[in-house]
Amino acid sequence: MKKIILTGDRPTGRLHVGHYVGSLKRRVELQNSGDFDEIYIMIADAQALTDNADHPEKVRENIIEVALDYLSCGLDPARSTLFIQSQVPELTELTFYYMNLVTVSRLQRNPTVKSEIQMRNFESSIPVGFFTYPISQASDITAFKATTVPVGEDQEPMIEQTREIVRKFNSVYGETLVEPEILLPDNKACLRLPGIDGKAKMSKSLNNCIYLSDTAEDVRKKVMSMFTDPNHLRVQDPGEVDGNPVFIYLDAFSRDEHFAEFLPEYKNLDELKAHYRRGGLGDVKVKKFLVNVLQSELEPIRQRRKEFEKDIPAVYRILEEGSKKAEKVAAQTLADVKRSMRINYFEDREMIEAQAEKFRQG
Ligand code: ATP
Ligand code: MG
Repeated sequence: MKKIILTGDRPTGRLHVGHYVGSLKRRVELQNSGDFDEIYIMIADAQALTDNADHPEKVRENIIEVALDYLSCGLDPARSTLFIQSQVPELTELTFYYMNLVTVSRLQRNPTVKSEIQMRNFESSIPVGFFTYPISQASDITAFKATTVPVGEDQEPMIEQTREIVRKFNSVYGETLVEPEILLPDNKACLRLPGIDGKAKMSKSLNNCIYLSDTAEDVRKKVMSMFTDPNHLRVQDPGEVDGNPVFIYLDAFSRDEHFAEFLPEYKNLDELKAHYRRGGLGDVKVKKFLVNVLQSELEPIRQRRKEFEKDIPAVYRILEEGSKKAEKVAAQTLADVKRSMRINYFEDREMIEAQAEKFRQG
């Protein structure tokens, strides 16, 4: 069986370092590994509209931002198909059929959707489209017969929902769809990177992000303003590293080489953590180190972004070509689905003949 990746992002803002460690970096590595037969990266504008119906301009404007972030991180259109969800209408048609395989109570149980509803104050007025977006996500994944979906932990319930739809579809209509596997980051700190405000998740919607396209100065300011252990008041006090966002970011980003380069008094993160726990290590020193670590990761991305920004029409051409290619693949899956559901009336010569015979005999 072919190994196929599908994943993507909502164009609700520029991409942040949470996206990077949760999914984007992995995608680039998988792309470069050559282990996959096909890779599809989707800008989920239709999904973004489900909770931004009143702000279509926000979604429209951010498509280019996400595309620039992709390219500057190393996604390569020659090896990965980059496309825009709304330009592949087959995805919407699949969603309409999958909706019949999912109950309202099943959607209500989805913990990610639950917390997103809360976060958006949708409790008494949930848009139907938003409520059903896990079904549309199942269409995105299955349309490309994806085997592997590299995402952050918040996406786990979505992949589980997709797997259920696949099993249900195949059992009712016959083996047609492929059950995908989730691919979570190996590094625990990357599963759900917290915000700079210490909130559980760095999220475009929460305004607590370090963006891939932030200037070096923005990054420095944001890190220096970050939450740490609230009880670590004086340098000599013992500090807590668990749940401390600065150390979680170091868990996510720092490598032993960074210590050799920027903080040679420590061999590695374990030593730094031990000192912080003992007391005698100030937050400013740790934060300055984190700034250096982040800059060394982000600077090449910023540089590449500047290059791609010089030719925006070329970026749209990449997305247009990718969307055309994606549509061909999705159309094939949709045809398979309709054939399995036997709503392929015009190509079903046998059915037409059998009915003709029935009517002939009166
Ligand atoms: P929104 O607030 O609009 O939902 P978001 O910041 O949650 O935006 P998405 O586009 O929903 O971003 O997520 C894109 C991908 O990035 C998903 O695979 C998701 O799991 C991953 N991701 C998002 N935020 C984080 C994070 N803080 N840590 C790790 N992975 C993340
Ligand atoms: Mg999200």
